[in-house]
Amino acid sequence: MRIITKRKRIKGVFDRWRKQYPTKKDCTEEQVKITKELSKLNLNRVGEKKIIEIIGNKTWTDLICDECQEDQDKVVRFIERYEDKYECNSCDLCLSCLKEGAKEMNAFGGNQE
Ligand SMILES: [Zn+2]
Repeated sequence: MRIITKRKRIKGVFDRWRKQYPTKKDCTEEQVKITKELSKLNLNRVGEKKIIEIIGNKTWTDLICDECQEDQDKVVRFIERYEDKYECNSCDLCLSCLKEGAKEMNAFGGNQE
């Protein structure tokens, strides 16, 4: 498992954007404009709001907990690896849901089925 933070999401925005829209010729004018705007940002400092403003939606920066579906500042990512090691499923959980899970697990005890 590893911790994913909002800042990490923000830091990765430009690389993910470029991966999705690598060349100018395949992009709309709007996408080229966004690429240019994103390239100017200091991703170590820029706020999420600014990126949402540039791209026009929050899917590039949101960090959704798979249990409560809320946008979070940080989540823990559990990874289920398949045998071929290249493909995997992941599950992101916020601290609150993780605590709830731990509480239920404790309450469950050891003798029940
Ligand atoms: Zn949650």
